[in-house]
Amino acid sequence: MSDMPNVPDILVVGGGIVGLSIAYGAARQGAQVAVLDESELEADPSHSNSSLIWVQGKAAGGPAQARWRRESVRQWSRFDRALCDEAGIGPLLQQPGGFFFCFSDEDLQRRGQLMQALQDSVDGDYPFEMLDRQSLKARLPEIGPEVVGASFTAMDGQVDPAELLRALRICCQQRGVVIHQDQHVGSIRHLQGTFQLRTATSVWRARKIVLAAGLDNRRLAAHVGMLMPVFRQRGGRVLLSQPIAPFLPYPTNTVRQFNDGSICFGDAVEDAGLAGASLDSMGEMVLQGLRTFPHLGRVHLTHSWQAPRIGAPDGSPVWQASQRCPGAYVVTGESSVTLAAAHAMRLAPWIVDRSLSDTQEVTVGDAVLDAGLVTQSMAPTVPFLTLDKTTRTVFPVLP
Ligand SMILES: Cc1cc2nc3c(=O)[nH]c(=O)nc-3n(C[C@H](O)[C@H](O)[C@H](O)COP(=O)(O)OP(=O)(O)OC[C@H]3O[C@@H](n4cnc5c(N)ncnc54)[C@H](O)[C@@H]3O)c2cc1C
Repeated sequence: MSDMPNVPDILVVGGGIVGLSIAYGAARQGAQVAVLDESELEADPSHSNSSLIWVQGKAAGGPAQARWRRESVRQWSRFDRALCDEAGIGPLLQQPGGFFFCFSDEDLQRRGQLMQALQDSVDGDYPFEMLDRQSLKARLPEIGPEVVGASFTAMDGQVDPAELLRALRICCQQRGVVIHQDQHVGSIRHLQGTFQLRTATSVWRARKIVLAAGLDNRRLAAHVGMLMPVFRQRGGRVLLSQPIAPFLPYPTNTVRQFNDGSICFGDAVEDAGLAGASLDSMGEMVLQGLRTFPHLGRVHLTHSWQAPRIGAPDGSPVWQASQRCPGAYVVTGESSVTLAAAHAMRLAPWIVDRSLSDTQEVTVGDAVLDAGLVTQSMAPTVPFLTLDKTTRTVFPVLP
């Protein structure tokens, strides 16, 4: 077993979208970063997702999470420019806005209420429109007779996840981030301010670590005194068709059309407020797509992917800093394509130097568990922290 002589400022565990976004963002701040990754699997959700940058209707985690999503879509064009300039590639981001379709008047009304509640919860700065059938048809003439209307926000967009991962890898390497494959981190110790991470072949050391290991974060976080309530929630699926003539320049909750003309029927938008928003079977996903655009009945499906969805019980992402082992951070959960820009441009600088970041912090633990502040803004994670009242954790919060 080798003992690594080079000690980076930050060791990131996990080389999926989360780990690489944070590694890149930290390297941009001048930190020396290394990534330990178990393996690169096509089945990981970082490869097999629906490619959406999606804010609208996402209510899990309350206003604190809604602010992070909104911030990420604001940062996405800066993030995209930085990645493309550094990697020498064309733009990855398409951000024309996105539609969420409704199939009954009640759904449309509930959708409007949800969007209004979200707008109110983040001080009004959450642009959206509710469209009736006539105004929707003027923008998307191919909609089927069952669609009664939609919500639209210019905040939403899409990005090819494989291209995003490729660009992140190139940019990380250009900024000196070393990505070590085949390194499964089995255990972590915190000794005199230094973390010691063991894999089958090596011992790695760093003063800061970021756990971005998807579902394995639950096990690894316990090694640094954090309770990490992430679970495999259910399998998510994406179905892809042969290319057809371009007709859909917007991402939507039922169907997307990629640059090569292929159609993606996807398990895309897991949000609150609508019965039927969670599509569990392939048949349902396709049916929903055909109800939206009946002419797709003629396309041939060619591929299907499946990957587990991982997140807190309410589906929200989780970011924490350990109080017990200062220097340990954990970042995990849903929507990491959407949140990649915030992870790189806002969260990584906070991890590199919390004193210079304008991100606010909320401490969750025995001292503040009853403080209302936490139960309102961080409700999903609090029940788990009460399991161990000595666990105190810092959450970054955007003003
Ligand atoms: C079907 C589906 C559709 C989705 N659609 C969208 C969407 O449209 N928009 C969106 O924003 N999000 C979407 N998501 C969610 C998004 O894909 C995930 O949030 C994201 O991929 C999570 O990335 P990650 O890096 O945390 O995890 P992962 O992709 O699981 O990566 C974790 C990495 O850590 C490594 N690892 C694990 N354990 C260890 C260990 N002990 N030591 C070292 N390395 C380790 C793994 O090998 C892997 O490389 C979707 C998810 C699914 C399943």
